Amino acid sequence: MNIDLTASLFHSYPKYFEKKLSSKRFAHSDILLLIKNNCKKKALHKTMLGYSIEQREIFSLEFGEGKTIVLLWSQMHGDEPTATMAMFDIFNFLNSEDEFDNFRALIKKKLRLIFVPMLNPDGAEIMIRQNAVGIDLNRDAKSLQSPESKILYGLVDKHKPDIAFNLHDQDFRWSVGTSSNLAAISLLAPVYDYDKTTNESRLKALKLIADLRNDFEKYLPGRIARYKDDYEPRSFGDMISGKNVSTILIESGRDVNDSNKTFYRKINYMMILSAFEKIICGKYNRRSENEYFYIPTNGDFLYDLILRNVNIVLKKQKYVVDIAINREEFYDNNSRIPNFISTIMDIGDLSVLNGIEEFDCTELRLVEGKISESVLHSIKELNRNKIKSFLEHGILFVKLKSISNKSRFSQLPINILRHSSSYSPKTMINTRANFNLYKGNKLVKHIINGWLCNPGEIDRINNGLIF
Ligand SMILES: [Zn+2]
Repeated sequence: MNIDLTASLFHSYPKYFEKKLSSKRFAHSDILLLIKNNCKKKALHKTMLGYSIEQREIFSLEFGEGKTIVLLWSQMHGDEPTATMAMFDIFNFLNSEDEFDNFRALIKKKLRLIFVPMLNPDGAEIMIRQNAVGIDLNRDAKSLQSPESKILYGLVDKHKPDIAFNLHDQDFRWSVGTSSNLAAISLLAPVYDYDKTTNESRLKALKLIADLRNDFEKYLPGRIARYKDDYEPRSFGDMISGKNVSTILIESGRDVNDSNKTFYRKINYMMILSAFEKIICGKYNRRSENEYFYIPTNGDFLYDLILRNVNIVLKKQKYVVDIAINREEFYDNNSRIPNFISTIMDIGDLSVLNGIEEFDCTELRLVEGKISESVLHSIKELNRNKIKSFLEHGILFVKLKSISNKSRFSQLPINILRHSSSYSPKTMINTRANFNLYKGNKLVKHIINGWLCNPGEIDRINNGLIF
């Protein structure tokens, strides 16, 4: 066995990366062909398990003939695609023949892997958490109303796995404990009763997680957390854990500038393959239960940006406040490219809260973004230099005579005002974040749709808004 498997997996990853899933927005139809192609080589075998409510086929893919059964499912929440992408990377890995042949042969001999990529294809189709009738599959483990839940329950019942991997994406704004680090990956050995008892199978999961965390801290220093372990009898992880299955929950976050989650997808790929090695070799047993409990839990939500000590005039009075801003992703018309809408989340003393990005505005005063005096005829007149020049003069909104599309997003690093719009920028809670920061009469920074920029700096801004 390779002494540093994770390092080898890290460096060789591009070879196995499934390029057909390069955007995190993909649909069931995208994975159907991949499933078929992956099973051509006979290393992986597919089984059609049943249909979702909207009649999409749900498959399992199996690898290996060993005694230890490992069940893995992804995307039971339709808008949580990271592990599905990682599974297809793993399928490419399992289907290859190269320097990892010994490892593959060992997996094949010792383990029987059962993967279910995309358990909730209807939710994935429109990027929502629930299934087609609005049921959260992870609250349906007891009443089993949804066909998708029945499929997962049926697999557990039929195969009685030794180990289960429940693969999700979490809100990316969780911190690791009390730190201001974003939780990249949060792990959990789900509890199966209100007393949070540790039986033999859960103990195995605790130790395996402790060992994984020990190996992966070097790739994600201070960024691995423990997911909160309140008992939820309606969830699959807790239910399966109660059946003496060593269950491991992996929750993936998102890096600030990695909308497609490419890096955490790679970490999922490495972590799952490393876990297979650990299960085979049993070395994780050297870890103690305490090492699991020492992992800090998910802490607080971090804001995308906190501006500290901003001088602002509100209703003719001067105040010094902190301003918290978030940017949310939107995928209009099932587009695969995200647009963002910013919101001012909080104004006031935010000294006990943390931002992913923070900026000290002591001596800076907030001035609302200016609207262009001239009205442009067409969006085509807004070239890069023109936009820069507007921004350098504090003009964050450009009036356009006609704009054909009904989109909320300008696709440019500046905001657009429809000619008919009566919008007038006003910084307050729950509004969009578009304003300037001045020191004396000098423009120092501007905030455009929630992005903090130097005057005229446009490369940070994913998109402006249309008002
Ligand atoms: Zn989830």
